[in-house]
Amino acid sequence: MTEKLPFLPFALPDIGEEEIAEVVDTLRSGWVTTGPKTKRFEEDFTAFLGDPSLQSLAVNSATAGLHLALEALGIGPGDEVITTTHTFTATAEVVRYLGADVVLVDIDPATLCIDPAAVEAAITPRTKAILPVHYGGLAADMPALLAIAKKHGLKVVEDAAHALPTTCGGKLIGTLDSDVTVFSFYANKTITTGEGGMVVTRHAELANRMKVMRLHGMSRDAFDRFTAKVPSWYYEIVAPGFKYNLTDIASALGLQQLKKAWAFQKARQRVAERYDEVLAGLPLMLPRHAAAGEVHSWHLYAVRLAPDARATRNEVIEALFAGGIGCSVHYIPLHLQPYWRDRYGLTPQMFPRSQVTFERLISLPMYSRMTLADVDRVVRALERALVRAGV
Ligand SMILES: *Cc1c(COP(=O)(O)O)cnc(C)c1O
Repeated sequence: MTEKLPFLPFALPDIGEEEIAEVVDTLRSGWVTTGPKTKRFEEDFTAFLGDPSLQSLAVNSATAGLHLALEALGIGPGDEVITTTHTFTATAEVVRYLGADVVLVDIDPATLCIDPAAVEAAITPRTKAILPVHYGGLAADMPALLAIAKKHGLKVVEDAAHALPTTCGGKLIGTLDSDVTVFSFYANKTITTGEGGMVVTRHAELANRMKVMRLHGMSRDAFDRFTAKVPSWYYEIVAPGFKYNLTDIASALGLQQLKKAWAFQKARQRVAERYDEVLAGLPLMLPRHAAAGEVHSWHLYAVRLAPDARATRNEVIEALFAGGIGCSVHYIPLHLQPYWRDRYGLTPQMFPRSQVTFERLISLPMYSRMTLADVDRVVRALERALVRAGV
């Protein structure tokens, strides 16, 4: 008789007593919205990235951060932003907030990140920016993308929602030569504040604009022209801004999560290595690792069914759930989503690599507190699913 095991989730936040104590301290302090802890979280984030020329701005989601970044870059109606079809809708929707157009392109099937050649082929006189995603925590081909941007005079905003910590050319994502990089602290990301994000840039004008737009378009700088001393009550509204600030309650979580970011990465890497080992014999394509000396954050461990697998992706997912194991699909590509498909007249034939990937793709459970026994349990269920399907 096998004992019924508890449900094994697809993702789980790793919250310890340190986070709980820091949140309680915030609650007792009387300062619950943006204040001293958020300021410290921003400073610690810049220190984590290790480049004091960067400014880190905390926001209440990565979506908000991407919106602020594109707004600060002046993206608007008539402009085009190129991004990958193989992403979450947040990456692209922010372009539409500003009335600009999204140009979706296909992926490199080896990395599932945006294909630089497809980016270059999609450039028109209206193109203003490239928005790469570091899929699953593996860096996109940033040297190629930055070279294309430079050649064509385009801006680069990195959707780094999966990429803490991830390196490219030995440098942490966030410290490259793009204009703005945006991280997410959503519940299932590599560190979490429940909801939250961080925007990173080394351009002072962009940082200033994003700071103003993050909180209602309020500026205290305007006063500086008249006197060095700004009264504490004084502000000016210089634009119809947004409400995108992060609370100190969330930042309290972030302060303690950030201290563990490298330990989390190591734990996730151990899970990935175990998966690699025990999945080796199954009809699966395993995810690409980072090159030697580079860091993969292992936000996702996404496998693809091999062409000779007898089961379909849906059958395997159903069997996993029946076995008490959570899993997911990252992503249903944007070209299949009604809004994007209909707005731009997209078909699967336009994105053959993302389409084939999607049809075979499964994200297996991946989180820092997963044990090797949990991994083995997933693998046994996967084996059964593939065998039961008639191998
Ligand atoms: C999670 C995610 C986002 C959005 O992050 P939020 O903090 O939830 O706004 C954007 N892009 C990608 C690729 C994501 O996975």
